[in-house]
Amino acid sequence: MRTITFRHGEKSRTSSCAFAESISKVAIDQFQLLREKTEDRHNLRANAEQNLRTVLSAFIALDSRTNRMTCLTVANGTKTISDEDFDREMEKKSYERGKLRDLHAEVLARRALKRYLVLEMRTLLAHGCEDENDSFLLERVGLEKGRVLFKMKAHKSIHLYVSSCPCGNATIRKWAKGGSDDDANRELGPFTMPKQKHETPFLPLDVQRGSVAVAMKKATTTTTKNEEGDDNPSSAAVKVLYENGTLAKGTLPVGENRVGRMCSCSDKIAAWNAVGVQGSLLATKLVEPIFIQSITIGRKFAYRHSARAFCCRVSKTFPSVNHPVLMQCERKFDLAPIDTDSVVVFDNPNSLIWSAGENEVIEVCNGKTGQREEEKMSSSRYCSSAFESLFFETFKTSHGGNIEDQMKEYAAMEDIQHYDAAKEKLWAKSFIPRFDEQTRRRRANAGKNYYNA
Ligand SMILES: [Zn+2]
Ligand SMILES: [Zn+2]
Repeated sequence: MRTITFRHGEKSRTSSCAFAESISKVAIDQFQLLREKTEDRHNLRANAEQNLRTVLSAFIALDSRTNRMTCLTVANGTKTISDEDFDREMEKKSYERGKLRDLHAEVLARRALKRYLVLEMRTLLAHGCEDENDSFLLERVGLEKGRVLFKMKAHKSIHLYVSSCPCGNATIRKWAKGGSDDDANRELGPFTMPKQKHETPFLPLDVQRGSVAVAMKKATTTTTKNEEGDDNPSSAAVKVLYENGTLAKGTLPVGENRVGRMCSCSDKIAAWNAVGVQGSLLATKLVEPIFIQSITIGRKFAYRHSARAFCCRVSKTFPSVNHPVLMQCERKFDLAPIDTDSVVVFDNPNSLIWSAGENEVIEVCNGKTGQREEEKMSSSRYCSSAFESLFFETFKTSHGGNIEDQMKEYAAMEDIQHYDAAKEKLWAKSFIPRFDEQTRRRRANAGKNYYNA
């Protein structure tokens, strides 16, 4: 007779502090609520026969006056579209890109955050809008150079939750000790973040072996076989990197981008800490960039590895880089038992994406096509073209007219040029590649926007 051992998909772990538990509770509760409203055929609902194994991410707002935590956005996902589809999308102008390319949970949650921010700005611009209940994250700060500007209220902050350690650099267990931060933090209350001192100036060890390098995501969907190349995952050189632990699972070193087009989530988070999480267009509407105050991780958290990956490794070229507080939560997201008679859906490609302010709208996208599932093959409201249309609808330029002209007008703005220059510096100077040869190839590819964060 077969004995069934019930073991959870996540190991038990200790919490960094009560704050991390508060954050993870808001994120997981919101997802549980939303998933039950999706259709059965998407396999996102919790039911006895099927368990969903995925990664969850959310942005949470904290009001330091009332200690109120609100979920701003939530998304799940582990997939990316094929390299071929990615290339087809990148050949288009950004405002024509109708497919989501990278459907990792934290990337989707951030896309949803950008939509949330522009919708908030739109409401705040509406005539007679009063923020009586202090429910908005942003406030208007009058005019500058004829433009309406916004900033995040001083008593509000945003926090990121990810149920499993973001892919790429943060999952490399080299060059530092693992484990959590400080046991003393366990005494802190549910709305108090621990104080942390990251290692700055950061002195990277083992640069040639990729301690600060960018890593590309292996596409989870392929339409043709991988071409031969030194960045082919089956090639001997890459195998060695996996074996000696200097390349994270699911990623590839930077090469000629014959395979692996998108940078890892660790790299994207480092970029958000360098230039803000809002992206270039929204930067033109904000007095200062928006930075993530803390990151709470469920599975596979390691404090020093996360600090290196998310902020410290770029601190030499970006001395002003934001160092978020990094925490582990003990609350489990994945409650699916590993060994039961029920079916565990390992390969469910579907992502649920949601942003606050649009309560009735719960989108389901297929991670293999980058398009919506509930409305067959239509574009996500979180894709680049939808975001840019919404942005330019909200902020019509003096010329009005078509989106192409408006994009040109924005491209000439000082704010955008500063933002682009900062990104360029980040890719060229902060993420030091393993070999000089990779620097050359990376420069050659820079114009292709392959490192879009
Ligand atoms: Zn990822
Ligand atoms: Zn740091």
